[in-house]
Amino acid sequence: MISSPTAISMMTGVFHFMAISFGLVLAGRTVGSQPNTVNQQPRRLLPCGSAIVFVLTAILGVWLHRGVAAESGDPRFSVLVFSKTTGFRHDSIPQGIAALEALGAEHGFAVDRTEDAARFSDAVLARYKVVVFLNTTGNILDVGEKAAFERYIRSGGGFVGIHSASDTEYGWPWYGRLVGTWFASHPEIQRATVHIANPDHPSMKGLPLLWERTDEWYNFRSNPRGAVQVLATLDEATYSGGAMGADHPIAWCHEMEGGRSWYTAMGHTQESYAEPLFRLHLLGGIESAAGLAANCKSAGGRP
Ligand SMILES: [Zn+2]
Repeated sequence: MISSPTAISMMTGVFHFMAISFGLVLAGRTVGSQPNTVNQQPRRLLPCGSAIVFVLTAILGVWLHRGVAAESGDPRFSVLVFSKTTGFRHDSIPQGIAALEALGAEHGFAVDRTEDAARFSDAVLARYKVVVFLNTTGNILDVGEKAAFERYIRSGGGFVGIHSASDTEYGWPWYGRLVGTWFASHPEIQRATVHIANPDHPSMKGLPLLWERTDEWYNFRSNPRGAVQVLATLDEATYSGGAMGADHPIAWCHEMEGGRSWYTAMGHTQESYAEPLFRLHLLGGIESAAGLAANCKSAGGRP
């Protein structure tokens, strides 16, 4: 389940290396296997000759690999997309993965996807600048995996939560702080207006200040304002079923324990991931979680 340009590039390099090695070793074998019953010396020299061929081939392999990597463009950073569910499963997960992979290809970051929680280890997580929880639900990590993810964030890792990432791991207080709050309820899917609060943030650039779109609009257990920097709010006057009142955050970011977190409650429907503006929103969120964009300090208030 790995689809990384880096991995493909490396595999191509390894393939070149193996093919050339194999060809040269075959050539060596042909020479060495010629009958020589009179003088055994050439046979004793063969291992030394093979070693030289091997070293030359290795140098050639590295050179070829570099050539391939330069052609495809080295990714700026790598992202792990995690979409494991043990509760409700959104049918938009495949569209979400495809959108993130397309954004990676267009904007120069590698995207690996997995639903295997065992990948939450120090060694694996260290490869990624950002871990995206794409419509995860329920309890998805065991104690050791949670500890590895906490160490990842504390060592400067980036987190992106999309939609039901807030409907995940209710029994893990640290995760609730990382996301900002938890999901509480939602009305039917409908059209509503999002007010952009911070148009300068990368995940808000290019969006209309009054952003009208269709989605499943979440109410939360608590208002995260104070613990996070609110980037956009939902206008409850423009739809029915809002329960947060006049201040209804719908996307936000903050820094926590040395890491970076960005969350959007949008992204329930398959159609969301085909919307150019929503994809722009996700791109900015990923880039800010990767630390490429301006820092996202919380607005103060709650510690
Ligand atoms: Zn949903």
